[in-house]
This record gives sequence, structure tokens and C-alpha cells, in this order.
Amino acid sequence: MLRKETSPITEDTEELQKLIAAMQKTMHHAEGIGLAANQVGRSLALTVIDISGTKDNGDVLPLVLINPVIIGTHGESVFEEGCLSLPEIREDVIRPESIGIKFLNEDFKEVEMEADKLLARVMQHEVDHLHGKYFIDYLSPLKLSFLKGKLNKLRKGEVETDYPLAPPTASAAATSSLVERGLHPLQETSAPAAARVSIRTAVSLVTCKQPAMR
Ligand code: ZN
Repeated sequence: MLRKETSPITEDTEELQKLIAAMQKTMHHAEGIGLAANQVGRSLALTVIDISGTKDNGDVLPLVLINPVIIGTHGESVFEEGCLSLPEIREDVIRPESIGIKFLNEDFKEVEMEADKLLARVMQHEVDHLHGKYFIDYLSPLKLSFLKGKLNKLRKGEVETDYPLAPPTASAAATSSLVERGLHPLQETSAPAAARVSIRTAVSLVTCKQPAMR
């Protein structure tokens, strides 16, 4: 699921609004600052972002990005990134410092904006998710070889994450813990239900969370 290109969203429906609300809830619960729909088992071009809880970003409003497209980039910066889908892994990633992006907002209105610093960073990380890409894809083969052990554990599902982890294995337990967290099981039950396990440590759930500034 997480490696697949997501599908564009073509219409605003009640179900979409429910999914957006559920994703925002999940993101806040996990203390994340961004979450993509395919991270919660829905292969749709949708991501929610909220960096308002991070230092110096209190005035940045939460965003809903439907079918986001990065239309321009500028500069370069290094930031340490983590991901809700890859707990315990944090690495420096080089990306453009600022971007132009267009998307539909939660009202299905087209928005075009520029973003820089943390917001641009999170947007790029999330848009990558929608294209089946992880931040570790930017790491050198050498760096990746150091992470091999952790990545293998993730693949085998031995690492606990704080939100539904794809690729999923459907289980009743997974569904019930989604409900416990106030996230209704997402519709289309024919789609694989997301596996979910509990939080191990505060550190392991960093994810798409505020990168440590260096
Ligand atoms: Zn991520």
C-alpha cells in the first residue's frame, strides 16, 4: 500500500470529509505533524498537515491537501526527518528549502501557495508518501545498509508504531484499537484493514514530527 501511487480524488463526499476528520484525529493523537491517506490504509491523494504545535509555527493553520502537486522548488536544506511509518529511524534528508504547491483544500477549492522551512519540508515528505516514496529513499546505499536491521524488523512487523502501519494484515484487534482511539474503521472494508499496535515510547513515534533543528 505505502509503495503504491495513490489515486486522485475526484469528488467531495461525506465519506471524504469523514476520512479527513479521522486522519486529523490520528495525526494529533500520534503527535505527528503530517499524515498521508495511504498511511492509514487508503490509497488516495490526500494528506493532512498541522505544524501549529511546533516552535515558531503557532500561526500556521492546519492544512488539508487533496491531490497536491509541487509546482516549483527553490534552494536546498538539510533536515532530520522521521516518519510515523518508520519508527525509530531519523535521518538527515536534503530537500528544496521552499516550494510552490497547488492542491484542493477541504472545501474542494483550488489553492496555490508557497511554503518554506518546516511547512515545505512536511509537504514534500507527505507528497512523497502519496507517490509511494519514503524519506529513506533519499539516503545513500551506505546509510541504508546501516539501517538494514531496523528496516527488516519493520518489514516483518516487529516494530510497534503509533498508528496503522501498512502493508497491513487485517485483524479484529487492529480494528478495535482503531475504534478505541476514536478513529472509526475506514469504509470500504474490502480494502485491507490497517494493522495497528500500541505506542512503545515517545521517541519512537516522532514521525513526520518536528525534525530536530540543527
Ligand atoms: Zn511519513
